[in-house]
Amino acid sequence: MTSLKQLLLKPLLMPGFPALLKYVQRDCATVFMLHRFNDAERGIAGCDVRHLRHALTYLARNGYELVSLVELFERLGGKGPQARGAVAFTIDDGYIEQATVAAPIFAEFGCPVTTFVTTGFLDRKLLWFWWDQIEYIFQHAARRSAQVQLGGKVLDYRWENQKERSRAQDDFTAKCKVLPQAEKPAAIAQLAHATDVEVPAAPPAAYAPMSWKQVRECEHMGMTFGPHTVTHPVLSRSANEVAAHEITESWARLRTEVRKPVPVFCYPYGWRADFGDREVAVLRRLGFLGALAAEPGYANALSFRSNGDDRFKIPRFGFPDELPHLIQYVSGVERFKQLLRRRT
Ligand SMILES: [Zn+2]
Repeated sequence: MTSLKQLLLKPLLMPGFPALLKYVQRDCATVFMLHRFNDAERGIAGCDVRHLRHALTYLARNGYELVSLVELFERLGGKGPQARGAVAFTIDDGYIEQATVAAPIFAEFGCPVTTFVTTGFLDRKLLWFWWDQIEYIFQHAARRSAQVQLGGKVLDYRWENQKERSRAQDDFTAKCKVLPQAEKPAAIAQLAHATDVEVPAAPPAAYAPMSWKQVRECEHMGMTFGPHTVTHPVLSRSANEVAAHEITESWARLRTEVRKPVPVFCYPYGWRADFGDREVAVLRRLGFLGALAAEPGYANALSFRSNGDDRFKIPRFGFPDELPHLIQYVSGVERFKQLLRRRT
């Protein structure tokens, strides 16, 4: 643990402070968001599974309530006990190692977890995610430069080392995100051409989806599943009928494949600019309990109950890769800091 972290967590040991933190957490729950998990066999880099085990052990030993999303929404809505520091886990997208690596670990700890699947990815209609193709191209390029035309501008990338390569990749990914879904393949084809990288038609092992059979096996282990659209577009940048179809169809598809689909939606990308009132209206019509965003923050029972739309904009914290950060979120230290910031 770094000395700065020790300093931040020191107040936790002072008499009276834990009670104060419990007080500030009384209306708040923490929802964590995970994506990829380390899987050396498939060449996947992501959340370190030893760290995940440490974190789950820590939460269990320290009396944190690990709740399912449905239970969380009930509590936030005033049914049952208060949310009071409860913790919920979510995983996005539907990659293969989320089934083979993550599901058994959450099962081992009896910890509820909901995975939000992009149904077209699992159906192998959307063969592989556009950002994964960009990563594949940049990481496999033997060349150290690429010129690509995007939106009338020439992008000129050069890299000498891994850091610069990744920076170029991140920049191109960000620029691609705002392109209409239909224009992304051409942009990626151009990048592949400029770097002399051949992109396989089907995703290599590291970028593959879980199968529906694996989804059902995971359900037996205790993992639950929610919808995350069909093709993972930026909903707010999609036409009305496309946005509605992405939500409705992914929900319908999920319901044909799993026993207990979770009526909570998860927006692709999940920042405020990526969804809006139109998406909330569709979700209401379909009877969803609510929806998850990806902006950091606590699920707050007061705003959940006072503002009808807030249940469709529940924030989540990215799962921290160090235990002191995790403690800061769940203990209330982060909440305390937020409140102090608001006051000053
Ligand atoms: Zn996603």
